[in-house]
Amino acid sequence: MDLTKLNKIPKKSSLLLQFAGLVTIATYVLYRIIINDYALAGILTLSIVPLAISMYLEWNNRANLIQKQLTLIIICIAISYSCFTLGYKGLLYLFPTIFVIFFLFNLKTALLLSFIYSLVSLLLALNIEESHVVIRYSIAILDCLIFGAIFSHVVNKQKQALLYFANTDELTGVYNRKRLIKTLTLLLQEYALNGTQSSILLLDLDHFKKVNDKFGHLIGDEVLRITAQILKTHTPDDAEVIRYGGEEFLIVLAGLDMDQASIIAQVLIERISALKISQIQGNITCSIGVNSLPATNIDQWLADCDKALYQAKSDGRDRYILAQELKPTHYSNKKDYVDTKRVQPNQ
Ligand code: GH3
Ligand code: MG
Ligand code: MG
Repeated sequence: MDLTKLNKIPKKSSLLLQFAGLVTIATYVLYRIIINDYALAGILTLSIVPLAISMYLEWNNRANLIQKQLTLIIICIAISYSCFTLGYKGLLYLFPTIFVIFFLFNLKTALLLSFIYSLVSLLLALNIEESHVVIRYSIAILDCLIFGAIFSHVVNKQKQALLYFANTDELTGVYNRKRLIKTLTLLLQEYALNGTQSSILLLDLDHFKKVNDKFGHLIGDEVLRITAQILKTHTPDDAEVIRYGGEEFLIVLAGLDMDQASIIAQVLIERISALKISQIQGNITCSIGVNSLPATNIDQWLADCDKALYQAKSDGRDRYILAQELKPTHYSNKKDYVDTKRVQPNQ
């Protein structure tokens, strides 16, 4: 399941919801015409048109939330007007519409809108209803608002929890790979549209198998947790740190070019090798591949970064390598570039 769709009502449910609204209003319009109430029939018809357009757009996968919200507001205005001429018969329709308001708007806006809608409709109903009838409806509508708000709040919390667990690596607390394709696609588009630079770092702990073999898997897990914390602490706030594989992390640096990414890679190498863990003798080190845009596609962006990481491993580990170094055609003075950018191993 694509979790980004969590915030949207599924197409079939949305169509069904709108269809129910359309049939109800259309039937009512017919009835008002039959009894010669052309004013109300006309106002309700005004709300049928945007509803039909909304269904048409939904059917063609072009649904637009703002268009749906405007449609709902028009329907609410028509219902408020019906309260003025029909009293409680109009007030009855506040209940389903308040429900839909909580569906289509965020909690605060839904509360505000439905409160104003209810207040106006109840006051208009006083036109023909006795005050005790309006008071009874007020209490029921108030309950409906409270339940709607609680329901919306609980569903929002559940959605947030679901998104958190779906996108987070359980051991380290950083992102898992789920967001990767979406994030990189956006950055490639940004580059194509505005030339915005972005970079990725592929970081792999050196000889991590030995850490596990020597000190045990639980200590290995602790090293992974601490590493993830270092990566989060020493990268910009908007950097995405992703656990890419077992002891491999991908850091997405939106808006940063190769030079800025190299500085961050250097900092991470230093911070990780300075790490002191009481149960472990000796240093933990890491190797990093750095790759900045342009790239023809996500696969190539990642594959070239992986090549740079592989090169960092074969060159002796505890260093970073720029993917661009492996593509000499990008730089006329490649030698100078390599000499000044490469981090020398500590050993
Ligand atoms: P290199 O420097 O070439 O990267 O060597 P390496 O030993 O780090 O690489 P290798 O791919 O041989 O080993 C990776 C190890 O990472 C093997 C696996 O046991 C360990 N590992 C993967 N996931 C976890 C995990 O969640 N917890 C722990 N403790 N170890 C893990
Ligand atoms: Mg490794
Ligand atoms: Mg590895």
